[in-house]
Amino acid sequence: MSLRDIHLLGSPVLRQRSAEVVTVDDEVRAFVTDLFDTMDFSKGVGLAANQVGIARRIAVVGVAERRYALINPVIVERAGTVKDEEGCLSIPEIYGDVERAALVVVEALDEHGVTRRIEGSELLGRALQHEIDHLDGILFLDRVGPIKRRFLVREWKKSRKGEIGYIKVLREPVAADAAKA
Ligand SMILES: [Zn+2]
Repeated sequence: MSLRDIHLLGSPVLRQRSAEVVTVDDEVRAFVTDLFDTMDFSKGVGLAANQVGIARRIAVVGVAERRYALINPVIVERAGTVKDEEGCLSIPEIYGDVERAALVVVEALDEHGVTRRIEGSELLGRALQHEIDHLDGILFLDRVGPIKRRFLVREWKKSRKGEIGYIKVLREPVAADAAKA
């Protein structure tokens, strides 16, 4: 298991538009594995490359048994709208209602470089839209409306009191694993 450090609100890479992936090679596949490991460790349903400091168009989502690597993902269809609560591993413990398409169809390359079409609604649809936003430098805070956004940013700053820097280092639970073995 290889965990990556998570970049938090304030880290400039979260505001970058990520670059297209030209070749899906072993290095990209290893990176996808790290993204899945880091997402699972953090109990998230999605993680984008720029959340771990890499501005490339790579993300992962995982809702129950539906797990996808998304390379150069594009939303090709959307239908309906639905508002629900959303959070982000880069803005821990802050949640807000975000309106999203109720259903999306995404085209992306998978970790083998094969084009896939993924249809998602409910939590999966929301995760797909949230992660593709990340790749464009957009955070869910940008979609909650200005008043709510000011409130949430204030809450975030309060929760960060005394902490410096914008990178959260994840620790692998070595001792716990050893005890189980
Ligand atoms: Zn996020």
